Amino acid sequence: MTAESMNLIEFKKMFPGEDTAEKMYKLIERLYPICRSITGNGLRETLSEIQKHIPISVKEIPTGTKVFDWTVPKEWNINDAYIKNSKGERVIDFKASNLHVLSYSIPIQKKLSLNELKDHIYTLPDHPDWIPYRTSYYDEKWGFCMSQNQFSTLKEDDYEVCIDSRLEEGHLTYGEYVVQGRTRDEILISCHICHPSLCNDNLSGISLATFFAKYISRISNEHTYRFLFIPGTIGSITWLSLNEPDVSKIKHGLVIAGVGDSGKFHYKSSRRGDAEIDQASRNVLKHSGHEHEIVDFFPYGYDERQYCSPGFNLPVGCFGRTPHGQYPEYHTSADNLEFIRPVYLYESLLVCTAIAHAIDNNRYYMNQNPKCEPLLGKRGLYDKIGGGNEGQEKQLAMLWVLNFSDGNHSLLDISDRSGLDFELIKGVADLLVEYQLLNRKSERIPRGLPRG
Ligand code: ZN
Repeated sequence: MTAESMNLIEFKKMFPGEDTAEKMYKLIERLYPICRSITGNGLRETLSEIQKHIPISVKEIPTGTKVFDWTVPKEWNINDAYIKNSKGERVIDFKASNLHVLSYSIPIQKKLSLNELKDHIYTLPDHPDWIPYRTSYYDEKWGFCMSQNQFSTLKEDDYEVCIDSRLEEGHLTYGEYVVQGRTRDEILISCHICHPSLCNDNLSGISLATFFAKYISRISNEHTYRFLFIPGTIGSITWLSLNEPDVSKIKHGLVIAGVGDSGKFHYKSSRRGDAEIDQASRNVLKHSGHEHEIVDFFPYGYDERQYCSPGFNLPVGCFGRTPHGQYPEYHTSADNLEFIRPVYLYESLLVCTAIAHAIDNNRYYMNQNPKCEPLLGKRGLYDKIGGGNEGQEKQLAMLWVLNFSDGNHSLLDISDRSGLDFELIKGVADLLVEYQLLNRKSERIPRGLPRG
């Protein structure tokens, strides 16, 4: 940030860098070994770990519930899985890595030749040390994932395969946490929690959302915040289906995913493209000093696909670092605890906080002295803002805020137009309100209407 905001200074006091970065990482370390999928006890265990930080409520939706075009699937749980050779040795062991089993594998126990086994094995020949992550949610089958190197050591033999799993009537589990603000207008923060031992893809987003919620719950907010910890795709479809009457409260939203790697920041705009969340994210990233990329909406990726489906078209963007599928470690055992770093998690949390802060403080004001410029010196404002470069910058910001506070330009609009940091603009707007040169405009101008 060019001018470090009061807000971020406060944030850093409450959540100091090194300490918070370590805690974010520690949460990931605790969640890493849990075998998660789109349903099952792994989700419950994950949510109960998150409950040690924030009081989320856990929802259980029964198998068979109709959710738009989809149906809540059977619940999947797994105790153990292995491939044993004829000597009784486990050549592949689920206990060594939960990625070894095709997620949602049906139970199986039988003897097979190597040739018969091959049809059920997934490897990554391009990365012979890595185990791929594979799922089969809607097609009942079984399989094992292993490194190409492990696969190469398998000799002709009689193998015993066992997947001790259960696929039966149960529930889809998700977590929800609402922090009430002064208004009912909501900011939605959504992350997926359905991947097993994968760090950047799913655990980094969970950790960021958890610490972000912790912060939001300790401060006073204009907006109500709704945090969703849901299994990807089916989770957001289920939530939207069960909460359709309340969906219109969501005025802004972010899907958070892939925030722990060293890559540059990446913001995928909402389907609308001109939503306030798009403007705020662009603005904050531009002033963040971090390398970043902003892309238009496209209909694949994470849960923004559902939030931005045409029947909802919610103003929800997707925030992360290197996008899914654009790093080789994606959906492999190499997306592990070494792939992510505490410092990147914390940087991501800071940017996310700044975006939410911009949204929460983006207001329209009316200049109370609109006929020619007011005399700032007479009112003691020059003394208030001080001298030097900082004073000059503030003076310039004041001129921008006074000139464009005509009820048609929000503080973000003024920040965009002037090229000055949002926090600087907001700071001088607060000052001008204190000196009765600005009044908050009670009604917002809906976006999309012609501006003055
Ligand atoms: Zn994924």
